[in-house]
Amino acid sequence: MKLQEFQAKRIFGQYKIPVPQGEVAETPEEARDIAKRLGGPVVVKSQVLVGGRGKAGGIKLARTPDEAEQVAARILGMDIKGLTVRKVLIDPAADIKTELYLGMVLDRARRRVVVMASSAGGMDIEEVAATTPEKIITVAVDPCLGLREYQARNIGVNIGLPRELLGKFAQICQGLYNCYMETDASLAEINPLAILGDGALMALDGKIVLDDSALFRHPDLAAMRDEDEETPEEREARLNGLSYVKLDGQIGCMVNGAGLAMATMDIIKLYGGEPANFLDVGGGAKADKVAAALRIILSDPNVKAVMFNIFGGITRGDEVAHGILQALDEVKTDVPMVVRLVGTNAEEGRAILASAKMATAETLAEAAEKAVAAARAEGRAA
Ligand code: GDP
Ligand code: MN
Repeated sequence: MKLQEFQAKRIFGQYKIPVPQGEVAETPEEARDIAKRLGGPVVVKSQVLVGGRGKAGGIKLARTPDEAEQVAARILGMDIKGLTVRKVLIDPAADIKTELYLGMVLDRARRRVVVMASSAGGMDIEEVAATTPEKIITVAVDPCLGLREYQARNIGVNIGLPRELLGKFAQICQGLYNCYMETDASLAEINPLAILGDGALMALDGKIVLDDSALFRHPDLAAMRDEDEETPEEREARLNGLSYVKLDGQIGCMVNGAGLAMATMDIIKLYGGEPANFLDVGGGAKADKVAAALRIILSDPNVKAVMFNIFGGITRGDEVAHGILQALDEVKTDVPMVVRLVGTNAEEGRAILASAKMATAETLAEAAEKAVAAARAEGRAA
């Protein structure tokens, strides 16, 4: 789960990371009032869960409360990379001298949290990594020791910080590391971490991605979820405990297990089709969950065929079959479906499905071939 910039900055503040004392507005009038309270020039920042808002025109300076109101009126309602802006953050404008990058992620290969820092802040770190990788300093943190002050100072030296800023920079690094660990984040990032005209360091942008599997430990953070940012399908998937990612193809897939779902998408491509989604119903899925999954798949108008690939272990074939029929009861559809069901209670499942005249397949290859052919025929008919 991603947090909005203003939420990330509030959390950073709790870890003694210097952040601007801004406030959130949902209307131009509110933006004006906040600008007035803050006094002086402000920056009006769209709150949407994508990067590159600056380039997209979603971040603008305003010198007066009047101007803040006008700018907010332009930014609110704006479409940025497919997301509608519903909130703007009004921050006191910062006098930026230098923009740095500071971020932490989990490096799965090293099995450590890695601190990344760069003197090339402000821009996309992926771009820096691609063009000037030598400008990114990375340090892996020992989980038992945590991020030590000398490590943080070293990072500061290596990105060319002046001596007098090293102590402050180390504090910010350690604050961000503690924030990352205590919130169970998978990413925490400050870009830019700015050196201001008066020499102070300040986090002008903030990004936190939380590990969904740990959210149950953080009801306060879970409550920060912005439901405006979710599509109805993503929401239904989340509430039903399904892993769902929408894609651009024509063949909807319902699979139990993430690895099997990836293999299913591969084999669809091998037979010349394109998957419409990744969907893992998980182990032991009951009829209700299967029905929810099918509803989500069928709500995508691009879907021309659906392929089920269920390998029954804990999951039972008859439960899955009942779920499919239950969903078909609720959602009337002519979309052709191919089911490959093997493992626990597969026989029973197939018998249930045969009564509903659904195409079944013995092997994965056969299922993919049939699904691709069905999608093609459907595409021609449409
Ligand atoms: P992003 O484009 O979504 O990453 O949004 P950022 O919050 O990082 O803002 C993009 C850029 O806008 C920054 O790199 C800064 O150059 C600029 N910016 C952001 N806040 C301020 C500010 O308070 N004052 C000034 N002068 N520039 C700002
Ligand atoms: Mn940024």
